[in-house]
Amino acid sequence: MTAPDARPALNFIQEIIAEDLKTNKWDGRVHTRFPPEPNGYLHIGHAKSICLNFGLADEFGGLCNLRFDDTNPIKEEQEYIDSIIEDVRWLGFDWKDRLYYGSDYFEQMYEWAVQLINAGKAYVCDLTPEQTRQYRGTLTTPGKDSPYRTRSVDENLDLFERMRAGDFPDGSRTLRAKIDMASPNLNMRDPVMYRVLRARHHRTGDKWCIYPMYDWAHALEDSIEGITHSICTLEFENHRPLYDWFLDELGVYHPQQIEFARLELTYTIMSKRRLLELVDGGHVCGWDDPRMPTISGMRRRGYTPESIRTFCKRIGVAKFNSTVDIAKLEHAVREDLNKRAPRVMGVLHPLRVVIDNYPEHQVEELDAVNNPEDPGMGTRKVPFSRVLYLERDDFREDPPKKFFRLAPGREVRLRYAYYITCTGMVKDEQTGEVVELHCTYDPAPRGGDSPDGRKVKATLHWVSAAHAVGAEVRLYDHLFTKADPGDVEAGQDYKSNLSPNSLEVLTHCKVEPGLAGAAPGTRYQFERNGYFCVDPDSSADRLVFNRTVTLRDAWARIEKAQMAQEKSGES
Ligand code: ATP
Ligand code: MG
Repeated sequence: MTAPDARPALNFIQEIIAEDLKTNKWDGRVHTRFPPEPNGYLHIGHAKSICLNFGLADEFGGLCNLRFDDTNPIKEEQEYIDSIIEDVRWLGFDWKDRLYYGSDYFEQMYEWAVQLINAGKAYVCDLTPEQTRQYRGTLTTPGKDSPYRTRSVDENLDLFERMRAGDFPDGSRTLRAKIDMASPNLNMRDPVMYRVLRARHHRTGDKWCIYPMYDWAHALEDSIEGITHSICTLEFENHRPLYDWFLDELGVYHPQQIEFARLELTYTIMSKRRLLELVDGGHVCGWDDPRMPTISGMRRRGYTPESIRTFCKRIGVAKFNSTVDIAKLEHAVREDLNKRAPRVMGVLHPLRVVIDNYPEHQVEELDAVNNPEDPGMGTRKVPFSRVLYLERDDFREDPPKKFFRLAPGREVRLRYAYYITCTGMVKDEQTGEVVELHCTYDPAPRGGDSPDGRKVKATLHWVSAAHAVGAEVRLYDHLFTKADPGDVEAGQDYKSNLSPNSLEVLTHCKVEPGLAGAAPGTRYQFERNGYFCVDPDSSADRLVFNRTVTLRDAWARIEKAQMAQEKSGES
């Protein structure tokens, strides 16, 4: 048992930082950064990294930079930069005046490369990319020295300068670090630092025709910005010796790289390359398609920044890769929306219902509670009249066992309104489909239980036909049918696991009149139907909603079952 006032245990990165503060390792500073490459939109995995880096800075009174690692001009675009800035802000983090670009350091990086050449620690190599791969060796066989490895410092300086000046064609020469071609760590086998590449850079234009490689650039960017804890994902663990080598050989300020497990989610792919493929291939309708695991997709779908932050906090930080159940993310979204989303009534599949004994032109404004979780959110008026829409699913001509909703002769309660009894139905002559119900209402009781003790087992939502507003509603399911979409048959790729049912569009929905003109981004709970958010496709005369999540909470069920199991295990 932990004491009630016990602080939550520190994760391993918090422990490292707390220890560093104790020993004054960085003069009491904590300085992290979030360093996205602007080659795509941010996804929920990035949110974990953002929450971690900005969160640590907040907790320990430090700073966190936003830095664009924009060293590869081929895949990078301004559109991505703008979206990343918007997304990090939306998540609730502030880098103040510390927005940096790796490309702003190109000149300094070049000078440091010259320094390594002068120290005999880097050389210009003429091997083709294919030859370089061959010389590199494998995990089980050592590599071979490049024939250009022994070039003199003067020759290297001259060639490197001419690489920069544009004297050589693309891909013809590289600058490589001179480390150890027999190292068991392949990253240390004379890694490439610069390549010749004529590509226009979104910030430096045509100034450069040599571009630094990721490992070289990244370590220097951290050093220049005085980062203390350079936090990255586990794949970079065996790049750390190289990170350290570059900084030590240069003798410059040397941050500590710390690796943590990247976030993986069930039913989700998380690589920007693949997400781009989905966008380009038209499998989704853009980076912000509400089915995408991108921050912008989640925002459009109706997720709140608070729920994403809560989720990131809950999943914690570990040293081992694992996959998180997406139900856990949805649980955090529901929990947050439950507190903040006003309740309204919206009918997704309308069935017309006429209350025969209700006066023809009468309209009553009935009181409805905006949020039972928060009385402060008050009440509103909802119009009731003779013709209503109910949910088609809430009626069965031949109700099966345990179906307690409306059926011929059956009485149900209408939310905030009267008891009604089904007295008849109208069918389409051709199809036999029920197209209209006739009911009578009991003018006496409203809301709660019947005073004469009549048992009514269902409470249905409804809208007044004459007052309701038409709406389009988009329902979503997982983008993939498989929990692990990357797991595919030979010859297939992850796209074979795309779900054909991830989007269902309902165009004839009816919502209560108060929703007319609701602004994009406004969130509601449609009673019994889930949480919904107004889509940017909406306009003054067209309402479009995305269903954010259903009300069914798979994660709550899993947790409950686990607790029950633990309990039975204890006794
Ligand atoms: P992807 O592999 O999805 O393309 P990336 O790692 O190439 O992502 P970057 O722009 O380089 O994307 O990432 C910026 C930061 O976000 C990095 O520090 C990276 O470690 C972190 N990051 C990326 N994906 C995840 C993830 N799934 N979980 C946690 N952190 C992540
Ligand atoms: Mg990357």
